[in-house]
Amino acid sequence: MSRHHRNRSWAPSPEPLPEGTEVVDDHTHMASVVPFAAEMDRQARDRGQDPVPVRDVDRQLEDARAVGVTGAIDVGCELPNLRRAVDLALEHPGVVHAALAIHPNEAVLHGHRGSPGPDGLPLDYRPWHDIPFEDALAEVDRLARSFPDQVVAIGETGMDLFRTGAASAGLQRQAFRDHIRLAKELGLPMQIHDRDAHAEVVETLLADGAPEFTVFHSYSGDEAMARVVAEQGWYLSLSGTVSYKGNEQIRRSLAIVGLDHIMVETDAPYLTPMPYRGRTNAPYMIPYTLRAMADALDIPIQEVARATRRTTERVYGI
Ligand SMILES: [Zn+2]
Repeated sequence: MSRHHRNRSWAPSPEPLPEGTEVVDDHTHMASVVPFAAEMDRQARDRGQDPVPVRDVDRQLEDARAVGVTGAIDVGCELPNLRRAVDLALEHPGVVHAALAIHPNEAVLHGHRGSPGPDGLPLDYRPWHDIPFEDALAEVDRLARSFPDQVVAIGETGMDLFRTGAASAGLQRQAFRDHIRLAKELGLPMQIHDRDAHAEVVETLLADGAPEFTVFHSYSGDEAMARVVAEQGWYLSLSGTVSYKGNEQIRRSLAIVGLDHIMVETDAPYLTPMPYRGRTNAPYMIPYTLRAMADALDIPIQEVARATRRTTERVYGI
């Protein structure tokens, strides 16, 4: 299909989960869905396609509830967005909770104005990056302590070595270690962002000692890594990528880690599950991903759904 004809509209709602089956979207960015869909709308109008209506957070939660997705952990991982995630949780008590961290790609920017980016590319330096990393992390710490009922995890933290030079990798590893220490100090679960950094992330966790509940967000590892995860009692959170054709290694990892250690997420607005890859993702899309997980494990969808719900309760206390 040519780019010109690409469909930018919202994907249809999946079939609702069976009556009485409720799940939580364990990692999402609902506020970011709004500008993402606005961009889809702009592109659609440019090409003479139907407009793509805005769906605010209330609408996203309503659509999600209609298919059995009754809660979400909203992730704030840039300094100016931390408070927004907490506010969403305050506005939707018992439905939305927050995870907070300074994302690995953000961590390398804080306090490093003028330093060269990976591969000589200019860094996307913004005004808030003038604030040193230590102070940004202190804000994560402060909000987590001030809102213990809302903030249920530290994340997403970890390492992202996609196009990242050696200097940035060193900064990321230090920032990751600081987040590990903070999660353990606060007694909170940790959500890990690991992009092209499986060995480095595992090595750092083993060296420093992982928090009691350590979750690989949008898990992208292979079977060897899944065996380490199983051995250590860590958790996988699966996004729409589990449904992509080329990701057989993710599907095989599910069976290795086992039904008691897997959860489900959107990472909206990105990583939309099949058959709607490329559209705007939002929490209502979760059942498509559960369907892919169920098929990979060859068990009914409600069995996977209920297992993820139990695990979310055990890990996050929600
Ligand atoms: Zn994310």
